[in-house]
Amino acid sequence: MSFLGEMTFMLRFSYTARMKNDFVPVHLNVDTFARTAGKLVGDERLARFDRLLEETLGLGAETPVSYSVRGEVLHEGAAGEKIWLHLAAQVVLPLTCQRCMGPVDMPMLVERSFRFVATEELAAEQDEESEEDVLVTRRDFNLLELIEDELLMALPVVPKHDVCPESVKMQVADVDFVDESVEKPNPFAVLEQLKKKSGN
Ligand SMILES: [Zn+2]
Repeated sequence: MSFLGEMTFMLRFSYTARMKNDFVPVHLNVDTFARTAGKLVGDERLARFDRLLEETLGLGAETPVSYSVRGEVLHEGAAGEKIWLHLAAQVVLPLTCQRCMGPVDMPMLVERSFRFVATEELAAEQDEESEEDVLVTRRDFNLLELIEDELLMALPVVPKHDVCPESVKMQVADVDFVDESVEKPNPFAVLEQLKKKSGN
């Protein structure tokens, strides 16, 4: 390949890469995404969401957080065009039941739409006066952060089983029993050792 050919190839390649990059969930170009009626469907390991992982006390790092996002431009007469992202995300979070302190899997689903405006001022003003959730459009919007925010807000204040399983209490009791027997030395074993020592 000639030098010029190579350059053209590289330019074309980086151009394509940049176009694709617009649809990477952590660097989403909101405007382009909406204008091209973009769609992103995927999942990320819970390990990527620090704040959610804090809630599970580090459990379920491999649990998938699934999401689906759709961009849309709506034309509303004199109000002009409006840019929207429609988000759905779900995860089953391994939380701790606050009644029996056993593990409880909490299925969570959030579905929400966000309208995007050009500046912080507009966002603050319109978020206040409308029912809609208004955010500021960005070229490198972090979609995963938004997903995490929404899931955190949807968390139950006091996670608990509908009906706490009896087996959890049994298991806890078993664990206590085992721990005790491990901690305390067996008196017969101690006697055996003493016998051996005196024998020598
Ligand atoms: Zn429980």
